[in-house]
Amino acid sequence: MKLFDVYAVNDITIVKAKGSYIWDENGLQYLDMYGGHAVISIGHTHPHFVKRITEQLNKIAFYSNSVRIPLQQELAEKLGKVSGREDYQLFLCNSGAEANENALKLASFHTGRKKIIAFRKSFHGRTSLAVAATDNPAIVAPVNQTDNIIFLPFNDEDSLEACFRAQGSEIAAVIIEGIQGVGGINLSKESFLQKIRSLCTQHNAVFIADSVQCGYGRTGKFFSHDYANVDADIYTMAKGMGNGFPVAGIIIAPHLKPRIGMLGTTFGGNPLACAAALAVLEVIEEEKLMENAKNIGDYLLGELKKIPALQNVRGKGLMIGLDVPEELKDLRKDLLFHQHIFTGEAKPNTIRLLPSLALSKKDADEFLESIREELPLSPKEENRKEDIPV
Ligand code: PLP
Repeated sequence: MKLFDVYAVNDITIVKAKGSYIWDENGLQYLDMYGGHAVISIGHTHPHFVKRITEQLNKIAFYSNSVRIPLQQELAEKLGKVSGREDYQLFLCNSGAEANENALKLASFHTGRKKIIAFRKSFHGRTSLAVAATDNPAIVAPVNQTDNIIFLPFNDEDSLEACFRAQGSEIAAVIIEGIQGVGGINLSKESFLQKIRSLCTQHNAVFIADSVQCGYGRTGKFFSHDYANVDADIYTMAKGMGNGFPVAGIIIAPHLKPRIGMLGTTFGGNPLACAAALAVLEVIEEEKLMENAKNIGDYLLGELKKIPALQNVRGKGLMIGLDVPEELKDLRKDLLFHQHIFTGEAKPNTIRLLPSLALSKKDADEFLESIREELPLSPKEENRKEDIPV
């Protein structure tokens, strides 16, 4: 049997990983500034993560949600504490798309309404409603097309207000990434998030903060939306939550009430996933990784902004985007194949940095040195070079 060919694959086989480094089958070492697509939060094969999962595996890997699973409660308490949302409720599932799917469905159940506001360049996943709310027609199958999604321009308060004025009583939810990831590291304005909060409150709609990529401490705060000092009604989480173990969830404000059978999944909240997620939160706390993400992120942003060839360097914490001009369009490939550094991309010309939150200053310096090596010298630097006596 062949694999169903849907991924653009690099001709590299990774067989080993530790911290911010990965190794291929020939023993070649790579610096992972991509975090396996924003997934590696506490570093590859962190010993506490490995221990927690191994111990759990030796006890029980799985039983269904028809029995009590105390690790779920333990995770809910820890997550409430670390995220500063102790009065929220936790529903566990398995992927980012599924988290958004459940959040949107819950908003519709709660309000009895059908319309969802999403934004241009958004990405919310590939399940039916999540993909319908994703601004990329190429991945929306005919069966997913719906008139229930209203796409508005990102960060445009006037059109948001106009939409609520016209259809406020039909809006079930507004869904927004604090920082658009796949869309190219576009930061939501704090005033825009505050406007969403006030309009949702005014019209009894549900504010969904998609934190699948920008959440879990990546930006230096637990949720990137926290920079705007607002509380969303539902936060969706996945990627960094399990440091590579598939686990996702939504946390839900107290006024949204559950009923038996309203949501559900076979694998969601299984003991192994809970052990992985607990290990991640314990390490985030113990090693102060949110502070590290902020500090190393600020350092990287500052240094990258000094490099003249890079355009529009932006981001928060360890979620950073930079644009490369047409003549440097191979930079990402050169970083991978010359410097052995993995980075992410957003088409057409953005490089995304999404490393582990444990990235050290030394790792950051290695990256900066490598990127400088791959870039042509600016005229100023060229002159300086000529000044140096040989
Ligand atoms: N939401 C955002 C913001 C994402 O970046 C992604 C994935 O990249 C998803 C949702 C979907 O997550 P998953 O691939 O785990 O379904």
